[in-house]
Amino acid sequence: MLPSRWASGPSSSLATPRGPGEGRCPPTSCTDHPRAAPGQVYDLIKKEKRRQRLGLELIASENFASRAVLEALGSCMNNKYSEGYPGQRYYGGTEFVDELEILCQKRALEAYRLDPQKWGVNVQPYSGSPANFAVYTALVEPHGRIMGLDLPDGGHLTHGFMTDKKKISATSIFFESMPYKVNPNTGYIDYDRLEENARLFHPKLIIAGVSCYSRNLDYARMRKIADENGAYLLADMAHISGLVAAGVVPSPFEHCDVVSTTTHKTLRGCRAGMIFYRKGARSVDPKTGKEIPYNLESPINQAVFPGLQGGPHNHAIAGIAVTLKQAMTPEFKAYQRQVVANCQALSATMAALGYHIVTGGSDNHLILVDLRNRGTDGGRAERVLEVCSIACNKNTCPGDKSALRPSGLRLGTPALTSRGFREEDFQKVAHFIHKGIELTLKIQNDMSPKATLKEFKERLVSDGKYQAGLKSLKEEVETFAAVFPLPGLPVL
Ligand SMILES: *Cc1c(COP(=O)(O)O)cnc(C)c1O
Repeated sequence: MLPSRWASGPSSSLATPRGPGEGRCPPTSCTDHPRAAPGQVYDLIKKEKRRQRLGLELIASENFASRAVLEALGSCMNNKYSEGYPGQRYYGGTEFVDELEILCQKRALEAYRLDPQKWGVNVQPYSGSPANFAVYTALVEPHGRIMGLDLPDGGHLTHGFMTDKKKISATSIFFESMPYKVNPNTGYIDYDRLEENARLFHPKLIIAGVSCYSRNLDYARMRKIADENGAYLLADMAHISGLVAAGVVPSPFEHCDVVSTTTHKTLRGCRAGMIFYRKGARSVDPKTGKEIPYNLESPINQAVFPGLQGGPHNHAIAGIAVTLKQAMTPEFKAYQRQVVANCQALSATMAALGYHIVTGGSDNHLILVDLRNRGTDGGRAERVLEVCSIACNKNTCPGDKSALRPSGLRLGTPALTSRGFREEDFQKVAHFIHKGIELTLKIQNDMSPKATLKEFKERLVSDGKYQAGLKSLKEEVETFAAVFPLPGLPVL
C-alpha cells in the first residue's frame, strides 16, 4: 500500500494518460519532469546543456559521458540499497545488483589488463576523494605519514594538502603529510629531493598522482623510493585513467601496490571512483625464503564499507560498468590517441604564439601555460575567457610566490576531443585563447598595477568600452563550437 503522503499528491496525470508511456508519473510532485509543465530544475538543465554545447570546454578533468552511461546512471539501479559486497549484503533483493557489481569488477580488471589472481578492485567509492581517504584509512594508522605532490605543484587536495597557516584537506588533519615538489626551474618533479626527504620522514605511503602535471610519472623511481622506506606506493591515476586504459601513457600497475581513480575524467564515464589493490605475495622473507602476502583486500574493502560509506551507488556502478565496456573498444583507443595528438597541437600553437608551456610541452591530455612572460596571471585570463564561453582553470606555476595569484592556465583536451575536435580545430582554439588573453591585457593595462582581481572583474563587465570586444569573441567562439556534436546529449 502507498503511504498516505504519496497518495495525497497531485494525481491528475494518473487519471488522464496522454499517450503511450505518458502520464504515468507516480503521484508525487512531477513538476521537474519534462513532460509535465517545465519546472525550475528542468529549465536549469536545459540552460546548462546549452552552455556545454556553445562553449569550449578546456577543463582538463571534465568530459562528456556517452548516452549509454547517462542512461545507466538515470536507471532504477538508483533505487536499490545493498550495503555490503556481492554475496554478503545487509539487504534482500540484491541478486541483480550483485551480478552488476561482479560484472563491473570483471570489466575493471579487463580494461587495465590485470590478472584476477594478482589484483582485485573495489568499485563502490562515491568519487575520487572518498576513494583516496579509504586507501589511507585502510593502510595508514591515524597520524601515520603520507607523501604526495604538493597541490600548488600539480598534486590533488586529497594528497595531504595544507598551507603554513591551515590544514586544508582532511587528509592532512587525520594523517601527517610531507609534500614533495617540482623543480621550479624545469617544472619536472624533483625525485632526488623526494628520495632525500622520504629517508628523513619515513612515510607509510607515497602517492604518485597528479591533477596538473603534463608529464609521465616515473613510477619505477617512486617504487624504489617506497621500497627503501618500506612504504606502500599508491598511484592516483584519476586524471589519466582513460589514457592508461588505452595504453597511450605508461601504466602505473606494474610498479604500484594500490591504484585509485575517478571514472569521469579521461575515462569518460559517470562520476565515481575505484580502488585497485594487489593480492598474493608482497615480498619474500630473506631469512626463511617464505612469501610475505599482501594484506590489502580486506582492509580496503572494510575501509570503504562500513568504514566510510553506506550503501553503494548502484546506478553509478552501472554507469562505471558501461564506461569500462566502452573503454575496451578500438574507438576508445583512437579517441585517447587523438586526445594526446590534440594536446600536442594545442601546446605547439600556444608556444608559436609566444606562450611559455611549463616543462616545454606535454605527454598527456593537458598543458600548463605560464602567463608571467605575458604580464598577466591565471585569475584574470580565466575570467575573461569564461565571459567569452571558454572554460579552463587558473593554476599555480612552478616557482609562483603566492598561491593567491596563480600565474598559469591549465588547458585540457579530453572534453573537446569527445566532441570530435582534431588538431586543426585545436589550432583554432589556441587562437581564441590568445585573443582572450590580448583582451585581458588591454583591460589590465588601463588599470593600476595594484588593482585587485575583484576590481578587474568588476571593470570587465561594467566598462562599456570592452563589451564589443568581449561580445565579438564570445560570438565567434559559440558559432564555432555549436557545429560540433555533444555526445550523450541530443539538442533539447
Ligand atoms: C579529480 C581528482 C581526485 C578527486 O576526485 P573527485 O571525484 O573530485 O573527488 C583525486 N585525485 C586526483 C589526482 C584528481 O585529479
